[in-house]
Amino acid sequence: AASKISQKAHKPAITLDGVNILVLANIASRADADRAIVNGADGVGLYRTELAYLGMNAPPSENELLEEMQHTLAPFEGKPVNIRLLDIGADKPLPFTGFLAESNPALGRRGIRLLLEYPELLDTQLRAILRLSKESDTRILIPMATLAEDITATRERLSVLSRQLGSGKIPPLGIMIETPAAALSLQEFASHCDFASFGTNDLTQYTFAADRENAAVDSYFRDSQRAIFRLMEIARSDAPDLPLSLCGELAGRSRHTEEILRCGLRSLSVAPPLVPIIKDRIRNLNYAKPNTTHRFPRDH
Ligand code: PEP
Ligand code: MG
Repeated sequence: AASKISQKAHKPAITLDGVNILVLANIASRADADRAIVNGADGVGLYRTELAYLGMNAPPSENELLEEMQHTLAPFEGKPVNIRLLDIGADKPLPFTGFLAESNPALGRRGIRLLLEYPELLDTQLRAILRLSKESDTRILIPMATLAEDITATRERLSVLSRQLGSGKIPPLGIMIETPAAALSLQEFASHCDFASFGTNDLTQYTFAADRENAAVDSYFRDSQRAIFRLMEIARSDAPDLPLSLCGELAGRSRHTEEILRCGLRSLSVAPPLVPIIKDRIRNLNYAKPNTTHRFPRDH
């Protein structure tokens, strides 16, 4: 059975009732990208870009970033790739941002909060992505978007830099939904962004007030509990036309695939080896519950 599953990995994942679900991969390196392609990923749902920064004495230059992204993403030529802006926090200090002493780093300056405080970090990354997007199907993901200003400020920089570069087309801008506030604000956010992806690892940490790295509170970290699905359902109904995806670890657990899709998602992003397993699960379920009228969200 396992070999049958992997034989079909390169085919699209279509539900019994005919809905094509994108199964994308989470990657952080070229090795991940190679593994994802071998496993039949339809694209990259989450490219974690932190590796290019960690352990460096100076931030990578625009050209270095561009080269790094081109190299990492080369196997995905022609396929959609979602590049997440640098998601770093005070618990992982970068030498060049100085040490930001915070007693509660998970609730402090991380993700887009830090980038807006260090505009040159944000601009360098956006410029490299804008240049990359001339030759590939690139989308941008904002980590830890919590306020509308997190999105509008990023979009503003994106359009300024795009004009400077004369790059013409601006890649779609999406947000990671990683805080309960974001999940409950899509009515407002939907007019500022083009798509959103649930980061259930952080969404669970912040919903259950349970540190995702602390084994002592592991039993409180319940990413498949009703509370998380409720947040996703509310987000869905508040923004019925916004394409929604899920890239937290929950997306890779096949016993929850049906319940996840019922929240109105059309794409999932998982660790490379799980792509064939999730595709197989999707082929064996119905997207719409029989005997219910289900609103099909807009395709990606
Ligand atoms: C998440 O928070 O669910 C997520 C996908 O991002 P990361 O695990 O990199 O924080
Ligand atoms: Mg996260």
